[in-house]
Amino acid sequence: SPTLAERILMATGRGKPPPVLRAVDGVDLSIARGEVLGLVGESGCGKSTLARVITGILPPTSGEVVYDQRKVAGLKGRDRLDYLLKVQMIFQDPYASLDPRMKVSRIVGEALSLHKLVPKAQIDEAVDRALTEVGLDTAYRERYPHQFSGGQRQRIGIARALAVKPDFLVCDEPVSALDVSIQAQVINLFMDVRARHGLTYLFVSHDLGLVRHISDRVAIMYLGRIVEIGPAAEIFATPAHPYSAALIAAIPSAARRKQAFKPLGGELPSPLAPPPGCPFHPRCPQAMAVCREIRPPLAEIAPGRSAACHLHTPPEAA
Ligand code: SF4
Ligand code: MG
Repeated sequence: SPTLAERILMATGRGKPPPVLRAVDGVDLSIARGEVLGLVGESGCGKSTLARVITGILPPTSGEVVYDQRKVAGLKGRDRLDYLLKVQMIFQDPYASLDPRMKVSRIVGEALSLHKLVPKAQIDEAVDRALTEVGLDTAYRERYPHQFSGGQRQRIGIARALAVKPDFLVCDEPVSALDVSIQAQVINLFMDVRARHGLTYLFVSHDLGLVRHISDRVAIMYLGRIVEIGPAAEIFATPAHPYSAALIAAIPSAARRKQAFKPLGGELPSPLAPPPGCPFHPRCPQAMAVCREIRPPLAEIAPGRSAACHLHTPPEAA
């Protein structure tokens, strides 16, 4: 069955009105320049949809994306192109996102020539610079995607993004399709590149063990909503939301990383028909009577930290 993001894409792709479902319902997310925000949750929780909304691939069904104090939906022409270039997406499957008929030189240089970002005579040089930066031999420019390993293909994807000099990388599960032994190398590349260029990252992953290593702040999503957000060190030390606590308790050892991620009993409810009250209550070990009735808002529980749970912000007695 299709994922939430696919359903949204299919629904919008057919030209029908957007579904009632808001995959990223009431998400209030801000990211500071230069920080790495890890966005975590089970598959189907809306992480990829949120990533696509932020990069402008998918229009938000409600709400807005504001970048550098400007509403993205209102950007036109050159301003919109600037945004689409500044905010680059790195996809989970580097093979599916690279055109198999194109040589590496064209994949990496395409946006540069299409949008005339550098003079024609300097495109080869820019491509070589991007390849070198991601640790690929410049001789590879004449090869095709199928001639590379998964890790190398993801490096090509990163080179393509870097070629246009982005400010912000939205990385959607960028290493989860790679062998565990290769994951660390690619993660190190992400971190090197970030340090060199002062980039901002939204790093989407179901792998909390990975997110813990690289994130300044973490946002935990459940059924399309952020249920906890705050500094990574604080959330990992003292998770406030029972769902965060369950995810952290279930961080697998490196050897078990590839196994299906299922930290809790019970199925993930359909986001199309979320449970009433706190959407997490059917799976929550600490659920109270009020949790079945009233949805807890995402509320500040300490400076820079918010959670959506009645344990932290009890509703007023009626
Ligand atoms: Fe659990 Fe209730 Fe908190 Fe929801 S509001 S996470 S059900 S304790
Ligand atoms: Mg996804």
